Amino acid sequence: MAKEPLFPNPQVKPPVKEDLKPAVAEAGKKEEIKPAAPAVTLKEIELELPITVKDLAVRLQEKPSVVIKMLMGLGVMAGINQSLGEAETEKICLKYGCRVKKAPGKEELVLGAHQQEDRQEDLKSCSAVVTFMGHVDHGKTSLLDAIRKTKVAESEHGGITQHIGAYRVVLPGGEITFLDTPGHEAFTAMRARGARITDIVVLVVAADDGVMPQTQEAIDHARAANVPIIVAINKVDRPQANIDRVKKQLSELGLAAEDWGGKTITVAVSAKTGQGIDDLLEMILLEAQMLELKSNPHRLARGVVIEAKMAQGRGPVVTLLVQNGTLHLNQNIIVGNFYGKVRAMFNDRGVSVVSAGPSLPIEALGISGIPEPGEQFFAIEEEKQAKELAQARLEKERQSQIREVKRISLEDLHAQIVAGKIKDLKLIIKADVQGSLEAIKNTLDKLNVSEIKLNIIHTGVGNINNSDAVLAMASDALVLGFNVTCDELAKETAAKEGLEVKIYNIIYELASDIKAAVEGMLEPKIKKVFLGRAEVRKVFKLSRAGTVAGCFVTKGKFNRSASVSLLRNGQPVFEGKISSLKRFKDDVREVAEGFECGMALAGFDQLLEGDIIEAYEIEKIARKL
Ligand code: GDP
Repeated sequence: MAKEPLFPNPQVKPPVKEDLKPAVAEAGKKEEIKPAAPAVTLKEIELELPITVKDLAVRLQEKPSVVIKMLMGLGVMAGINQSLGEAETEKICLKYGCRVKKAPGKEELVLGAHQQEDRQEDLKSCSAVVTFMGHVDHGKTSLLDAIRKTKVAESEHGGITQHIGAYRVVLPGGEITFLDTPGHEAFTAMRARGARITDIVVLVVAADDGVMPQTQEAIDHARAANVPIIVAINKVDRPQANIDRVKKQLSELGLAAEDWGGKTITVAVSAKTGQGIDDLLEMILLEAQMLELKSNPHRLARGVVIEAKMAQGRGPVVTLLVQNGTLHLNQNIIVGNFYGKVRAMFNDRGVSVVSAGPSLPIEALGISGIPEPGEQFFAIEEEKQAKELAQARLEKERQSQIREVKRISLEDLHAQIVAGKIKDLKLIIKADVQGSLEAIKNTLDKLNVSEIKLNIIHTGVGNINNSDAVLAMASDALVLGFNVTCDELAKETAAKEGLEVKIYNIIYELASDIKAAVEGMLEPKIKKVFLGRAEVRKVFKLSRAGTVAGCFVTKGKFNRSASVSLLRNGQPVFEGKISSLKRFKDDVREVAEGFECGMALAGFDQLLEGDIIEAYEIEKIARKL
């Protein structure tokens, strides 16, 4: 094949190697302070990125086919309408003697005003936005209702709140906005869209039920979002209520109440009798005061979508929480791919309002569609700009067949570490039993990966659920399962969002995958297939056969030809093969779950009672990560 000329466009002078030589040599000389005259002056070309191959070709006055061939030379297979990233565009332009200058995109042009930092003197205190979280049935909805009924009716005449997804209470000591969408999953799904929607989380724990799996999930979700937690121990009216037991459980999770030597604000409440609710509100105000929440009411509003629906006769109805600035009637906003002039605004009591400042939730009419909860909105001066930006976003979404968000994955972990893109690897680990979790944590703790910090943001016993998937999404974490499966909904979310979920049956394999991935040594061609796990219950030293372990197969099966890992306190101690497998006195080929056997390992006789032996087969097929 004839070689493609490197610089096919004669109009632009390319940087030839010879030209660069003197510059490099000059730069090497210490005494030379004055920079050497560049051998080639790179022309600046202003491009809006990403740019399609076609548009780039037009700008370079080149045939698209030539650009496509050049890209192939760079290992990039691209069609004429494909968008190119910054790196590829730069490489191609360099071949034409051009340096890329990124033109401000539509986003920057239209939303430029929102990028400006607030001046200190413009900032005013604003009220807190609070979300209730906790295990199902522990009373989140009841508490929200109890507060709404008593406090809203008391403080406002007309009183009754509309359901708009958020409401506000006005107390003598201040105001609070409550988000009415309880549940950490919804909260984290919003966070995954880039929205920080809450200032304080109230963790609801039923006094009779205590800490449950979703209580722990909620704690981890709130912590991952870096939001302070206040604990409400609910249902204290119940005869089975045991407040101390809950406090003890919470202190084990790092949320010790003050009377348990900790700092967590903990209030005993009952949604049924109303006991403690005033205290809870007071504590929320106190926490809000300590957070010194501030915003600037005198600027264009921005905030977040709480919920959105289509209402008959009204069109799209969108509940917005203003987070900064003030939204005025008839102002234009952009929200996701939609835009519109705010035709009407209603507060949480259904009263029509003409403006809404920071921390206020309002229902807005006039938006062109139904945005997702968690989507951010921005007020924009000119309608034309809002419309154009919405169209540009829609166009971009249409064009990018492949999602732009690149999630973290074991496969390219090393590359991302080297590129300095990640400094800590966040992990969510689910396992069949608490013991396995401990062993995994132990093993990971001892993994010597200096390149990166392993940060376990959530662990739990049970299958991988959707809450794990959204947490991973919002926090850019990997999800690892051990002896568990992945729920259907979680699978869907993972597939849709390109999340990496990996399930293991061998602790050692999990740990070594992480280590290998960090070091960029992930071997794709070998797969260890878990066969079984056995516990060493007794150790016999026999003069002829050496050390034999009396084992009990707790899971799966063992066969004579299997490879084995020996784990002691969760740590791999030995990797090798079985040298003898017996049932009573007979050599056997296989021992199934629930049976005892005698086992000797080839080349290892330091077996101890309590050791765990894991058996696996090595499959030599491409491993999917
Ligand atoms: P959520 O799933 O956390 O929103 O829980 P709900 O608010 O739906 O409450 C679950 C159940 O517990 C309902 O039957 C409530 O009536 C009941 N419940 C909630 N709070 C209390 C309380 O303080 N005392 C008693 N006795 N029952 C409560």
